[in-house]
Amino acid sequence: MTAQLPASGPDLEFQTHVEDGRLWLQTCEDCDTAIFMPRIICPHCGSLRLAWHPASGLGTVYSRTVLYGRPKPGDTRPTRHALVLVDLDEGPRMMSRLPDTDPDDIAIGLRVKARVEGEAGAHVIVFDPAGEANA
Ligand SMILES: [Zn+2]
Repeated sequence: MTAQLPASGPDLEFQTHVEDGRLWLQTCEDCDTAIFMPRIICPHCGSLRLAWHPASGLGTVYSRTVLYGRPKPGDTRPTRHALVLVDLDEGPRMMSRLPDTDPDDIAIGLRVKARVEGEAGAHVIVFDPAGEANA
């Protein structure tokens, strides 16, 4: 199955911006709210004046759940990965993963840093522990 890539619109703009390896968010120029998912209209005030800005990429784990998959061939243990909701420092909450972190090491309140994964046109935002002092 091939991913259906956006031909135009805010999803395509998002894909183009994150090619530089940073998380980008839209900000409403009328109510100054940061927005994610990408949209053509501000969900808070209805404005069409949305501008793209690079985000700090920093956030805090709001919740996490662990998904168990079928064991890999030759193994009896199920595969596990965590699905998280991250509250970005700019405000929006996004669903993502921490692909290189053991699910047991992901606690609610963990500070995380965004990273862009995937190939052109199909980038996704994933996170790593931020490793900040006083996290
Ligand atoms: Zn607005």
